[in-house]
Parts: sequence; structure tokens; C-alpha cells
Amino acid sequence: MGSLDGKKALIFGVADHHSIAWAIAEKLRGAGAELAFTYQDRFEKNIRKLLADRPETPLIPCDVQDDGQLDTVFKTVGERWGGLDILVHAVAFASRDSLNGRYIDTTRTDFQQSLDISAYSLVAMTRRAEPLMTARGGGSVVAMTYQASQRVVPNYNLMAVAKAALETTVRYLAYDMGTNGIRVNAISAGPIRTISAMGVGAVRNIFDAVEEKAPLHRNISADDVGDLALFLASDGAKNITGQVLFVDAGHGTLAG
Ligand code: NAD
Repeated sequence: MGSLDGKKALIFGVADHHSIAWAIAEKLRGAGAELAFTYQDRFEKNIRKLLADRPETPLIPCDVQDDGQLDTVFKTVGERWGGLDILVHAVAFASRDSLNGRYIDTTRTDFQQSLDISAYSLVAMTRRAEPLMTARGGGSVVAMTYQASQRVVPNYNLMAVAKAALETTVRYLAYDMGTNGIRVNAISAGPIRTISAMGVGAVRNIFDAVEEKAPLHRNISADDVGDLALFLASDGAKNITGQVLFVDAGHGTLAG
């Protein structure tokens, strides 16, 4: 018997088996939750392979910039389950150009695209999840962020600004959704080797800095993030909302 028996979880953000979203999904599944996934077209092959032995799992295409696709995702989930308990937002994008060099050179197009995909998408998803979670008496929304939103991490640039918007979005959504018993939180994870992370310029330096300076002198794993997401999705976190919780070997506590 798991702590999430009978719970329904919708996961956005699996690109491959290294994805944080995949590690979270595995933890939720291990605790008894039933899962549905969305995928971006370019990663369809990967996720189909990951779910090859689970043909019953709902797998729905969704580019988060497409309102029609978002509508279809939540409609499908609503029809299948009649409600939703857990929503995982592990989606972000910034062009490669905007993750190198000087932040001041960020273009308007890149800025709009990154903020739309990485921050506004949480608003768009949570609004669609609200009636489904309300039907279940409440729910838990978990998003993914990074400490560069608060302090300068060279090259993180535009993605850091998007994460600042995402974290503020978490607080305002938590305020709006609280009356329906829906909690909204973000996990601020230390660096993990995923497709997205490898797009950040000189990312090696970020991993080295954690090992050298973090109180625990080690990098974290996607599994560690999964553990915290599992907690946030569970009843044990019933009075935690609007928060950014760190799983980063303590690195975020340092002044510089
Ligand atoms: P990842 O590359 O495995 O996942 C990123 C996901 O974003 C992919 O599944 C991709 O399909 C999705 N995505 C991008 N644009 C999209 C769009 N327009 N529509 C739908 N989906 C889209 O990388 P990850 O590191 O697992 O990233 C997951 C989350 O964790 C992101 O929010 C990321 O910023 C955050 N995060 C990552 C790290 C890290 O070091 N890896 C640290 C802290 C936070």
C-alpha cells in the first residue's frame, strides 16, 4: 500500500529517462499513483519507449504554447479520471543563444518565448486543473525552479528571469487556489545532467561549484527531486503551499 493509492497524477516534461519529470513520475508511481503523461512532439519516440510496457497509460501530445492542445490534455484526463490530484510542471525553454554570454543581448522574441513556455504555462495548466482538482476536494501542483532566479549564475541569463516569474506565479496561484484546497509549490533543484541543463553555457562550472562549495559537497540526483515531489504530493505536506523548497545539497544557502 502506497501513500498515493487512488491518486491521479498528470506529468508534463518527460524528454527522456534523465528528465526530472521521469524521476518524479517513478516516485509517484511507486507510491501507488496512477499516471498520465504529455509529451512534446520531438520527444515522442523517447517517451513511447519508456512506457512501452504500460500501454494503458494516457500519453497526450502537448506543446504548452498551444491552448487547443492544453484543452485536449485536461479534457482527456477529466473524461478518464473525473478529476485530478497531482499536476507536475517540469517544462522550460530558452534558446541556446540566450543561455550564453551577456543577458543584455536577450532578444524580445527569445524573452517572450521563454517566459511563455517556462512560466505562463503554469498559469495555463493550473487554471485547467482547477475544476478537476476541486472535484477531488483539493490537489497538489509542483513546478521546478532553480536558484539563479535569486542570484546571478553566469550564462543562466534568460532562464533565471523565467524562473523568477515562475516562482512569483507559484505564490499568486497558491493564493488563488487555496480556497479549493489546491496547493501550489516549486522545487528549487541543484544542477542535474538533463537535456535542458546541458544547453546552459559552461554548465560544467556549475556542477563543480556545487561539489566544491555546497555544505554537503556533492551534486544531487533527479531521484532526490522525486523524493521531495512525492512529499509535496502527499498528505504530509497538507499545510505547505506557495513555497519554494530547495533540494540542492545546501548550495542555495551560500552568499556567493
Ligand atoms: P528536460 O530537458 O529533461 O525537460 C525539459 C522539458 O521541457 C522537456 O520534456 C521538453 O519537452 C519540455 N518543453 C520545453 N518546451 C516545451 C513546450 N513548448 N511545450 C511542452 N514542453 C516543452 O530537462 P529537466 O532538467 O528535467 O527540466 C525539467 C524542469 O526542471 C525545468 O523546468 C528545468 O528548468 C528545471 N530544473 C532543471 C535543473 C537541472 O539542472 N536539470 C535544475 C533546476 C530546475
